[in-house]
Amino acid sequence: MIELINSEQDLARQNFPVFVPTMGALHAGHQSLIKLGKSLSESVLVSIFVNPLQFENQDDLAKYPRSLEADLKLAEAAGAAAVFAPTVEVIYPAEIKKISAGAVADLYEGAARTGHFAGVLTVVKRLFDLTKPKFAIFGEKDFQQLFLIKKMVKELELPIEIIAAPIIREPDGLALSSRNVRLNEADRKAALIISKSLQESNLQEMHKVLAQEPGFKLDYLAEIDEQTFGPVSANTQNKRVIIAGWVNGVRLLDNKSMGSGA
Ligand code: AMP
Repeated sequence: MIELINSEQDLARQNFPVFVPTMGALHAGHQSLIKLGKSLSESVLVSIFVNPLQFENQDDLAKYPRSLEADLKLAEAAGAAAVFAPTVEVIYPAEIKKISAGAVADLYEGAARTGHFAGVLTVVKRLFDLTKPKFAIFGEKDFQQLFLIKKMVKELELPIEIIAAPIIREPDGLALSSRNVRLNEADRKAALIISKSLQESNLQEMHKVLAQEPGFKLDYLAEIDEQTFGPVSANTQNKRVIIAGWVNGVRLLDNKSMGSGA
């Protein structure tokens, strides 16, 4: 049976070279991160913590799916050695300082959700301090998050290697997300327009595809330079299209590499 760790003391007694942070409601996307971790080391630790600091919207926080029993089984099936599921008090004792996330944190996901990335970086830094991993694995699904975590690790000179894992999708193309459980059958169909639009070769065509689906409300669709998260320029090596929007009040994200060159 997989080990469940709740306290800082129990965590400190062991050494897990690989760390996979999550907010739970695990699915095959999270499991792919754990499996990737297993290829680096036998001992993979998964954390499950729904971080109040990164939710601006209290309703979204309240509605975030929680399923610890099922999560333990899915983590174990993917090969995790242990799950760290701390309380808010363990993660946020009084002295924890908020990490500020810089200008990129105010764009895209950060523009839609004020303070979101400061909340993400604060919890990730705290989790890194507690778990002391050699490798930490994050999904490309949350591409801006991945960018900002890499930047924080570099700036703070943390001795941790950040590993990026590709997006896992349903057979029909929808990117797996814990929030997908909130989609009804019609929503689920409407949500497909996101991955469908990303099959086009440029933003203009993508907008045309998205306009075909009245059930999808676009927040942003943008092409960015993966190195800077700024606009594509003559110096761009790798481009990526990022997209976010809502289906029936559920926020969904996706992205796709658009290859190299400006
Ligand atoms: P979350 O529980 O949503 O905070 O996600 C935990 C980690 O799993 C993050 O690094 C996400 O980027 C990653 N993740 C979530 N969905 C997917 C997916 N469909 N494919 C790959 N990684 C994912």
